[in-house]
Amino acid sequence: MSPSIKAREFPHRHLLGIAELNEADITQILDLSETLRGINERPIKKVPTLRGRTVINLFLENSTRTRTSFEIAGKRMSADTINISGSGSSASKGETMLDTARNLMAMNPDVIIIRHQASGTPALIAQHVSCAVINAGDGTHEHPTQALLDCATIRKHKGVPGQGLKDLEIAIVGDIDHSRVARSNIMAMTKLGARLCLCGPATLMPRDVEGLAGPEASERVRVCYRLEEALEGADVVMMLRIQNERLGAGATRFANTREYSRYFGLNRNTLSLAKPDAIVMHPGPINRGVEMMPDIADSMRSVILDQVAYGVAVRMATLYLLGGGSFGES
Ligand code: ASP
Repeated sequence: MSPSIKAREFPHRHLLGIAELNEADITQILDLSETLRGINERPIKKVPTLRGRTVINLFLENSTRTRTSFEIAGKRMSADTINISGSGSSASKGETMLDTARNLMAMNPDVIIIRHQASGTPALIAQHVSCAVINAGDGTHEHPTQALLDCATIRKHKGVPGQGLKDLEIAIVGDIDHSRVARSNIMAMTKLGARLCLCGPATLMPRDVEGLAGPEASERVRVCYRLEEALEGADVVMMLRIQNERLGAGATRFANTREYSRYFGLNRNTLSLAKPDAIVMHPGPINRGVEMMPDIADSMRSVILDQVAYGVAVRMATLYLLGGGSFGES
């Protein structure tokens, strides 16, 4: 049994959001993902850690990366993973989420992973089931495993060992208002000691967004409305997609995509304002040519595919901690 893996009992039954985690919890997940990452690079990418456990991926909103990544994470740890999507489930026949969850629970899974367009759904389900629940993105609320994989990626590229993300300057740019990725990252990154600049059109900036970081960290979050200002001196630049699907039919918060791209799109000129070794991130899917020019997405500065790779490791770590995994035990 690896001592680093069993060193601390994880004090949570579910992973519903970053809000409920403290620095030690986040660091534990990141450290464990570092340990597990190597499994993904072996020729035989499988360990018996979650053998006999059942993991249900209940994805009622579209997903490419997160769903695949959770499925791969479960399979690489030998769990039986089952995928349910919106169109193939009884949700499309009018079944309530609670009925769906109760029926799945009757089959005795160990973990249910939920993505849903309504904020709060995973928390609701967690109150009615006896297995662990992981939030894989709920509406505009939280996307905790995305924030964890983002922090793991930044820590690897920019962190000083043992210091988390202390004093790193991180710019998060785009549709902050509708982004669950931004919300979870504001909490996770400030808990790890980073300083954030949130940038986007005023119409896509939530009110009192600094407050998301909590009273002790709110002075480490600033808001600005000019991309140039946000990028100046940044160690990390994270670009976000406009969440058109959450704006409402026909609604718009800016004149047009071309204008948005002109003022808030990351290109070679604007990126030159960041530190010369700044990394560029995006949670995907990228709208190439809108929030980020293709040459930047494909450049040496981009760590976007590292984020995806860390996604598997972080999800393995979460499944291990919440699904009752064991190393070296029979
Ligand atoms: N994939 C991320 C999410 O599910 C970001 C995005 O869709 O823009 O929130």
